[in-house]
Amino acid sequence: MPVRPNLLDYRKACVEFTWDDARAALSGLPGGGLNIAHEAVDRHAAGPLAGHEALRFIRADGSSTSVTFSALALEAARFAGVLEELGVRPGERVFSLLGRVPPLYSAVLGTLKHGSVFCPLFSAFGPEPVRQRLSLGGARVLVTTASLYRRKIAGIRTALPELRHVLLVDADEAPGPDTLDLGALMREVTPAAGTALTGPEDMALLHFTSGTTGTPKGAIHVHDAVAAHYATGRFALDLHPQDIYWCTADPGWVTGTSYGIVAPLVHGVTSIVDEEEMDVDRWYGILAGQRVTVWYTAPTALRLLMKAGTGHAEGHDLSALRFVASVGEPLNPEVVVWGQEAFGLPVHDNWWQTETGGIMIANFPALPIRPGSMGLPLPGVEAALVKRDAADRPVIEDGEAVLVSSPGEVGELALRPGWPSMFRGYLHEDERYRRCFAGGWYLTGDLAKRDPDGYYWFVGRGDDVIKSSGHLIGPFEVESSLMEHPAVAQAGVVGVPDPVAGEMVKAFVELRPGHEPDDALRLEIIGFARKRLGPAVAPRQLDFTPALPRTRSGKILRRLLKARELGLPEGDTSTVEGQ
Ligand code: ATP
Ligand code: MG
Repeated sequence: MPVRPNLLDYRKACVEFTWDDARAALSGLPGGGLNIAHEAVDRHAAGPLAGHEALRFIRADGSSTSVTFSALALEAARFAGVLEELGVRPGERVFSLLGRVPPLYSAVLGTLKHGSVFCPLFSAFGPEPVRQRLSLGGARVLVTTASLYRRKIAGIRTALPELRHVLLVDADEAPGPDTLDLGALMREVTPAAGTALTGPEDMALLHFTSGTTGTPKGAIHVHDAVAAHYATGRFALDLHPQDIYWCTADPGWVTGTSYGIVAPLVHGVTSIVDEEEMDVDRWYGILAGQRVTVWYTAPTALRLLMKAGTGHAEGHDLSALRFVASVGEPLNPEVVVWGQEAFGLPVHDNWWQTETGGIMIANFPALPIRPGSMGLPLPGVEAALVKRDAADRPVIEDGEAVLVSSPGEVGELALRPGWPSMFRGYLHEDERYRRCFAGGWYLTGDLAKRDPDGYYWFVGRGDDVIKSSGHLIGPFEVESSLMEHPAVAQAGVVGVPDPVAGEMVKAFVELRPGHEPDDALRLEIIGFARKRLGPAVAPRQLDFTPALPRTRSGKILRRLLKARELGLPEGDTSTVEGQ
């Protein structure tokens, strides 16, 4: 086992580490330049890891197929060859609308190898969100399945004049006149001989944000991002070549690419890919049966497991598991503690965004976890909290952002620009991009506080924070307290207008099985929260709901709870689950 760094090592690493150290650990292209596909597969395929298992696909019946690094490299070269043959030019956009199926991986890596830009879409999107993104991204190629094509693309095809080629991964004998059979093309093509000579600043990936706060943005990432995927995979996820790693993120989101594909491959790690949707017993079965060592998942999944009870974990041998991490939403302390019971391990929360391209703040493998905290900035990451004025704007004086210095004070989480996986723009939205930077910092839109040891604590998205009788209330803190009540499975908290307090805290609660949503329970939960949080912060109103509205990536949509409560327009709902 590798030696884990302690807090002193961490502080030392923060001082000594530079992103160039991470770049130096990569091999670079033989002719100069940098390409993610080369770092992720080709260099392994040409070295001692050639026969090592890169991907292990688990089918519905539990059987699996393995793909080695050399086989994956060949598939990627074939896909790059197909793009060449189709006349796709470097820099043009190749989209996917796919679940976790093997051709997705050759498509991502083949696109990067070819020097074009890859953009994954979430396969459960309806036709309109798909059309919006294909159109905004100027998609030239789309890789999808015959059934998804029929249901979501056929009807909008004429609205997408720039979309030249639709490649079907499962075309039957006679693919439609507007589509091509990817399997047949891959069999016949001459694999691309080399890798495009991309530079670190060439555009590689386009990722749409989750759309939690409004219309999704297309964040542009470049090949240099791989240096961050490499370093953060080691610092925050503790990846080592012998690991069996499972990232449960959907491939349609940035986590699915950065940590579902790139980071593990760059580290030469074997990734488990479950082709199915989430299911409690299946998940425990995979963790145990595949002897998963490192597991990267999300609060929404962990809360579901928790809701199902620890009974499901019993009888599964989870002894191979040594590290569990979570991202995407604040991780309630309750879940961290529950993880200890269920897996014998705490869950390590970490924080990042589509825009940051990689993990920025984390509860590191070796450092003590603070349940409810996002952790410490990674080596190479300079984080700060910027003061906000009465109108919620960042305070800038003489061109410099004014920073929060006292522990416990809330500010807007900011990062010093310059890390390799930082987004280089929002596609076609230059002004929106520029507005993210002020006073020398990238402003994340999230509010947080810091404790005396430098751990960051998420307070809420700037837009979600509640102002009640002069208090600044973070919905996360209230939701976490509610979840400590044995009847509460999940909670979403918003501020609703109140003539006296300005805003009043209102909670929406999803109950655990076996509890009746009646007035007695409502009063009991409100009383429970008042005891923990005090009357100024505890919810004054509480509604039960069978299911909180979520984004497709599983985040609670507080803006929608609020809009529905106030009878306001719902805004962009393209990424809402179940729409
Ligand atoms: P949009 O930007 O379109 O509104 P989004 O911000 O949800 O959507 P993502 O980039 O997928 O899109 O999500 C990043 C956001 O998720 C962060 O800014 C933060 O609000 C939240 N988040 C991610 N990880 C954590 C975490 N560990 N703790 C708290 N919040 C988190
Ligand atoms: Mg965002």
